[in-house]
Amino acid sequence: MEKVVVIRFGEIFLKGKNRDYFESLLIRNIKHALKGVQHTFSRSQGRYFVENFLPDDETEIIDRLQKVFGIHSLSVAEKVATRADEDFPEIRASLADCAQKIASERAAGKTDKLKFRVTVKRADKSIPMTSAEIAAALGGTVLQKGVFKVNLNDFDCEFKVDIRENGFSFVYTDAVAGAGGLPVGCSGRGMLLLSGGIDSPVAAYMMAKRGMTLCAVHFSSPPYTSERAKEKVVELRNIAEKYAGEIRLFVVPFTDIQLAIHRECPSNFMITIMRRFMMRIACRLAEKYDCSALVTGESLGQVASQTVESMTCTGATATLPVFRPLIAFDKDEIMAVAKKIGTYETSILPYEDCCTVFLPKAPAIKPHLKAVEKAESVLDVEGLIAAAMENIEEL
Ligand code: ATP
Ligand code: MG
Repeated sequence: MEKVVVIRFGEIFLKGKNRDYFESLLIRNIKHALKGVQHTFSRSQGRYFVENFLPDDETEIIDRLQKVFGIHSLSVAEKVATRADEDFPEIRASLADCAQKIASERAAGKTDKLKFRVTVKRADKSIPMTSAEIAAALGGTVLQKGVFKVNLNDFDCEFKVDIRENGFSFVYTDAVAGAGGLPVGCSGRGMLLLSGGIDSPVAAYMMAKRGMTLCAVHFSSPPYTSERAKEKVVELRNIAEKYAGEIRLFVVPFTDIQLAIHRECPSNFMITIMRRFMMRIACRLAEKYDCSALVTGESLGQVASQTVESMTCTGATATLPVFRPLIAFDKDEIMAVAKKIGTYETSILPYEDCCTVFLPKAPAIKPHLKAVEKAESVLDVEGLIAAAMENIEEL
């Protein structure tokens, strides 16, 4: 039996004149996601179709498509001959199979009949019946199973028949949810501050979901942080790329900056000042790589460096808008997303992060910007940044 994956897109319908642009990005991203898997792709009547793939690849194709933002839902349909002149024998056979499957899955042990409807879309206008007439006729096949009754408005299951041109129809029932959101590429470019923790990969996912293309910067403090900590960040980037498309990753040597802060500044401002350096360097990298915003995994009140006052002090050094998509998320909620997208297991690997090096005993929870600026003024900020920028490595 030949199978077809039917793809429906969501929000981009709303975008009026920009629709062609959004669709071209979505199609590009779908093709990118399916690279290396044999298939053909086509579009018609506000849907996309993936056909001619090997039966063994079906699960892989669904899995990859479920990570493409802008897709609302997917169905695996059976492709059969239409043959309206013969009263649709192949469509009826396929519908009967679907109905049988649903009956054995859902009707067992129930006294009430399952409410259903058949919905027909008819691209082939040569058939001398309306879509509603065809649906009513085909409903008989489902009713024959004895456990169904028609309800057009309030139904437990919907049988869909797309009558295409060229004598073929697609028959299917359930849809699997797509990733939602907007196609990556439609919402500008952002520079993600990617640590090895749980939060920042989730922040990447959230921004990609709204269509943002990402680059990433990681601050590393060898020899206090290990090569394995860096590999972990690369792995997190690789997982995030399944959703976000290509993410260029830049690693900034941060040891000298941390040592200078540790040596010269009061320890309670250590973290705040460190973050101010991260922001400044991230902004410069962002400008270099054509990004117009920063993205962090900060969540309000999660730790001392994420109070309103702390974020005011760090944000003050940013010359670009800072997006913090997790700002109002609880840790539980962030962890749930991390598990869903597959970054959690990597994030919890116990390798040191530069932030845990020289961790002060009592970080300021409500730092004052003026006091922080004064504490920082003993440093050669420009010199330290320039030295770090000279040794950036792309992974
Ligand atoms: P995460 O799970 O993302 O590490 P966290 O709870 O550990 O978050 P912090 O360590 O306070 O929080 O970091 C807050 C944010 O600052 C991170 O989400 C990330 O965006 C950025 N950040 C922290 N450390 C680094 C680093 N070494 N390199 C790049 N960005 C970092
Ligand atoms: Mg962290």
